[in-house]
Amino acid sequence: MSDDMRIAIVVICGMAVMFLVSRHVERRWPIDPNLPRSEVIDDWKATGTNLLLSWLAGPLTAACSAAIVTAAGGGLIHLRTDGWWYGVSAVGFILVADFYRYATHRLYHVIPCLWALHSFHHSAEALTFVTGARHHWLEKVLEGAFFPIIPILFSIPPEILIISGAIYFLPDGCAHLNVRFRLGRFVTWLNNPQFHRIHHSTQPEHLNKNFASLLPLWDILFGTAWVPRADEYPPTGLVPGEKVGIMTSIVWPFRRYLPQLQGYVPVWPRVENWEGMRKIYMRLSGSHDS
Ligand SMILES: [Zn+2]
Ligand SMILES: [Zn+2]
Repeated sequence: MSDDMRIAIVVICGMAVMFLVSRHVERRWPIDPNLPRSEVIDDWKATGTNLLLSWLAGPLTAACSAAIVTAAGGGLIHLRTDGWWYGVSAVGFILVADFYRYATHRLYHVIPCLWALHSFHHSAEALTFVTGARHHWLEKVLEGAFFPIIPILFSIPPEILIISGAIYFLPDGCAHLNVRFRLGRFVTWLNNPQFHRIHHSTQPEHLNKNFASLLPLWDILFGTAWVPRADEYPPTGLVPGEKVGIMTSIVWPFRRYLPQLQGYVPVWPRVENWEGMRKIYMRLSGSHDS
C-alpha cells in the first residue's frame, strides 16, 4: 500500500471518528435542542453540493495556483525544521496563517463582491458540525487559484503543513458545533462554538464581530471582539433569512439575477399518466397496442 493511500485512509478514518463524536456531543449538550430537521438537511445538501463542486475544480485550482506561485518566485521564506527551529517555524507559521485568515475574513465582510460569496456561509440558520465546511465553491476556488499568498510567502515543509492542518481542523470543525461548552473566562483563548456563534448572529450588536479562525487574540487586538455572556447563544443566519436549495446554493452570488431560482427545491419529474405514456411508447415503437 502506498504512503498516499495510507494517509488517505488515516484522514478518512479520523474524519469519521470526529463526525461520530461531534454528533454524540451535539445530541448530549445542544445549544438548540430543537433545530428544525429541514434546516439541518438543507445545510447538508448545500454543503455537500459545494464541496463536490470545489473538489471537481481542484485540479484547475491547483494548476492555476502553482503557475502563480512559480511566477512570483514562490516560497520566499524557507521555514527551517532542524533542531529547535522546528517549533519556532511551526508556531510562527500558524500565527502568520491565522492572522492572514483573520484579515481575509474581514475583507470578505467589507468588499461587496466577496460578501456575495461569503454570505453563503452565513446563510446557515442551523449551525452544526457540517457548517464548518459550508463555503461557496467559488469562494474556495477563486481564493485558492488566484490568491495563493501563503505558498508565495513560505516554502512549507510537509510536516508543518500536516501539523497546521490538524490544528486548523479544531476551529473549522468545532467552532460551528451545536454544543454548549462552558468555557467561562477562557472563552477568548481559542475559537469555540459560543465565540464563533456571535459571528453568525442575527442580532445587530454582534454585526462584524469575532472574525478569528483559531485565536480570538486578533479580534481583541483589532477591536472586533465580543466576549459572550455565560448564557449568550443568539439565533444565527442572514437578516432577512433566505431559504437555500441545492440550485440556489450553486448560483448563490448570482441568485438575485435569477429570481426564478429563489427557494428552488429540485424534485424528480413525476409521471402521473403511466397508461398514456405506455400508449405513446407503443405507437412510436410501431408495436401493436394490447
Ligand atoms: Zn464571516
Ligand atoms: Zn462560521
